[in-house]
Formats: sequence, structure tokens, C-alpha cells
Amino acid sequence: MGLSPKVFHQLCNIVGKEYCTRSAEDQVCYAYDATRRFYPPEAVVFPKDAQDVSAILQLANTHGFYVTPRGAGSGMSGGSLPVAGGIAMVMTRFDRILTIDTDNLVAVAQPGVVTGVFQRAVESKGLFYPPDPSSADFSTLGGNLAECAGGVRALKYGVTRDYVLGMEVVLPTGEIVRVGVQTTKGVVGYDLARLIVGSEGTLGVITEMTLRLLPLPETSRTMLAVYDRMETAAEAVAEIIRRGIIPRAIEYMDNTAIRCVENLLDAGLPVDAEAILLIEVDGNESETRLLLDRIVSVLEGECRGRIQVAETREEAARMWKARKAISPALRRYGTGKLNEDIVVPRNRIPDMVAKIRSLAEKTGLTMLSFGHAGDGNIHFNVMFDKDDARQTSLALEAVDAVFDYTLALGGTMSGEHGVGIAKAPYMKKEISDDVLALMKRIKRAFDPAGILNPGKMLL
Ligand SMILES: Cc1cc2nc3c(=O)[nH]c(=O)nc-3n(C[C@H](O)[C@H](O)[C@H](O)COP(=O)(O)OP(=O)(O)OC[C@H]3O[C@@H](n4cnc5c(N)ncnc54)[C@H](O)[C@@H]3O)c2cc1C
Repeated sequence: MGLSPKVFHQLCNIVGKEYCTRSAEDQVCYAYDATRRFYPPEAVVFPKDAQDVSAILQLANTHGFYVTPRGAGSGMSGGSLPVAGGIAMVMTRFDRILTIDTDNLVAVAQPGVVTGVFQRAVESKGLFYPPDPSSADFSTLGGNLAECAGGVRALKYGVTRDYVLGMEVVLPTGEIVRVGVQTTKGVVGYDLARLIVGSEGTLGVITEMTLRLLPLPETSRTMLAVYDRMETAAEAVAEIIRRGIIPRAIEYMDNTAIRCVENLLDAGLPVDAEAILLIEVDGNESETRLLLDRIVSVLEGECRGRIQVAETREEAARMWKARKAISPALRRYGTGKLNEDIVVPRNRIPDMVAKIRSLAEKTGLTMLSFGHAGDGNIHFNVMFDKDDARQTSLALEAVDAVFDYTLALGGTMSGEHGVGIAKAPYMKKEISDDVLALMKRIKRAFDPAGILNPGKMLL
């Protein structure tokens, strides 16, 4: 395929000249996501509405060029990278929150709205949108829906798909359709909204969404617990949940993650600890206090962790800042980074941490894990020198071994980052041939010409 000057001109006619570019600078800017892989698009277009998107996709069908939707480009699996060439379709002009309905607890928004902006807008009306990826300050709702983003509150509140009621979607053929409902219930027909959430921009382009909201919890409390042994930390998590307490977040950091953050922030984290748990509860004043007391009694009693309860919002914010700084803190440990987000049954986290430690010892590479201990979602990172062929191959072998072990423990290879290009070569490990073939038939039914986001998920 390839974009002729004539087709580029037609694209410019659709979106307007100022929203259509093929300058070298723009090609470079839209060639990356958080994987840091580099695939420059042949052109970058910024549609403003569903009609623009439809016209672009119809043109792509007629002239045979590829279209890759893009939100903020913060994806961790390469989903927004135009790996096969063609155009990057950047959705950032879709930046309006259309309604926040306080009677029915639903909101209608466009996909280019930044997640944190949306969270704050609904909170100003006493409502709550729980999905909270650590990238909320810059990722978009469209990217969140396409990846089914999770985040730190998933243990209590679920993930993005649990808050999507309906959507306007432009299919790869250019048809503009509405799927799902505007109400809090609805079971008429196949649940296509649920199919499109998490489809990583391969089945359609989301141009509007109806989202479910909750009442805003009155308050929240945050605490840190420090452990000398990972097993004890994991036992504390299991015990909290066994007692029927569901905090809104239970995050953990292993020793290497603690040291990486401490090097960057000088946040006063205990660098000798083998694990830190960051726990947050929410609700009204009295239930939050009760939950906090019950958790502290678990942590103090059976588990003997050192505990620090945040007494002010600022202190809580400092604790979260340390947790959210892990990913960026890692860059100084190598030019290459493989970042996986496996999920295992939560009581198997210590087994996985031990496996990661043994792989780090065997390879000599920096490896660490942190993540959502409450739901077993482990962010496993391997740092290496990407110009060193031996280190690169050792890192890839380690990822392979971690995926095999994850599946042996009854887990899954990705909890929230998606497949994209990063995990596409491993799909066969987890998904059987017949189910893969079914997925490919679904993709063909939506996108017979294969023009939307090729080279992702299904190879
Ligand atoms: C520091 C950091 C922390 C992160 N923390 C988390 C976390 O806690 N939890 C989590 O789940 N993720 C996390 N992520 C990953 C990432 O932020 C999420 O996957 C996010 O949902 C991507 O949103 P985006 O707008 O950047 O999308 P992009 O990266 O631009 O695109 C992601 C995918 O969505 C598709 N897409 C984008 N817009 C549309 C649309 N309108 N219609 C159809 N498809 C579309 C793209 O084609 C691509 O496949 C983190 C990333 C970083 C860099």
C-alpha cells in the first residue's frame, strides 16, 4: 500500500488542511507509544466528528491504505503504532463531555477526553468514574475503552468495561453504528459494546461513549505496610480479602521497584524492605474508619508489617506519587525495557516473584515487579541494553519463561495493557487455534478489506 499525493489531498479535503500533515516532524511525533518502538505513519490526520472518520475509512477501502486510530499514544503494547504504514488517525479533537446526567448516573463523552479531566468533571457533580489507570493524567477515554484499561481501583470497582453502556462506532467499512444502550441495563441482541471494548482499535473507531457512573465516595484513607518477606505481604493481602474486606486498592512494590523509585524521588521509602503494600479504602467517614481499623488489625496481628497511615491528603498523595513513579523511574536501568502485565491468582504472587528473582539471578538483568496485588495483576519489567544482542535475547527468553509460568499457574498474559504488537507473537500460548480462528472470522466480518489497525493482536 502507499499513500499517493492525490489520496493525501483527498484526506486534507475531508479534515481540513490544517488537520492533515505528512511533515517529517509530525511523522516522528506520532511514530511512538510507551513501548518506545518506532513506526512513522505516512500521514497524520485529526478528524473532528464521526462523519470525518467515516469518510476517511471509506477512502481507505477505496484506495487500499491502512488506518491506525490513536488517542494519547500512552499504550504499553504498541496498539497505536502504524506498523504496516498508512495513516495515524489521532482522536484528540473529540474532546467534549456532552452530558453528565446526575439523575440517571450516566455520562456521554467523546473519545479524546483525557481520563483525568473526565474524572474531575464528574466528581465536581458528586459522581464517580472508578477506572483509574496510572496514566489518567494523559491517556484518553477512547484509548481506555479500546484497551479496557484497568488501574488501581479494579479490585473493588472493576475495569473500564464495567462502566461502558453504549457507544457510537465507525466500522472499518465507514458505517456509523450505535451499539449497547443508554440505560443501566439492556440485553437486546449480541453485546457488541462488550466486544468492542478491549478490541484495541481493530474492529471500529469509537466516536462517542455512554458511561455508567457511581455516587462519589465521601472519603478515602491510604496506608503503607512494609514487609521483610514477600510471602508475608501476600498472606496479608489474602487475609484482608478472606475477612470480606475489599479495599479500593491494594498495590505492591518489590524490593527492586522500591529502590528504583527511591533513587528517583528520594521519597523516604524503606530500601531494605522486600515488599511494600499500598492500601486504600473508601466509603463514608464511619465505614472508612472501621475498614481502616480492621485492616490495621490484620496487618499488625498475623502479619507484623510496619504500618504508616496517611493522616493528610498530602501524605496520601506522596504515597501514590511513589507508586506511580515506578514506570518512569525504570528508564535509567537500561535502554531496553520489556514491560508485561501478567495476572495470576493472587495467592500465587509470591511464586511469581520468586520465579522473577531466579530469572534475574540467572540472567544478571535488572528485573522487578509491582502492581495490583489485590487482583493478582503483576507488572513485570526487564531492563537491558537494547544494543546488546545477548542481553536482548536473555530478556526475551525471560519474558517467554514468565508467560509459560503465568499460564501454568492458571493466569493470563495481560490484565490491562493489551496484546498490540508486543504480545501478538505469544497469542498461541494462551488462545487455542479454534478460538483464534473464530477471532479472525470476527475481524473479517467487521473489516473485510483489512484496513483498520493491521498487524495487531491477530497475526
Ligand atoms: C506511565 C503509564 C502508566 C500506565 N498505567 C496504566 C494502568 O494503570 N492501567 C492501564 O490499564 N493502562 C496503563 N497504561 C497504559 C495506557 O495508558 C492505557 O492503555 C491507555 O488506555 C491508553 O490510552 P491512550 O489514549 O494513550 O491510547 P493509545 O495508546 O493512543 O491507543 C491505545 C489503543 O487504543 C486504540 N484507540 C485509541 N483511540 C481509539 C478510538 N477512539 N477508537 C478505537 N480505538 C482507539 C489505538 O488504536 C490503540 O490500539 C499506562 C501507561 C503509561 C505510560
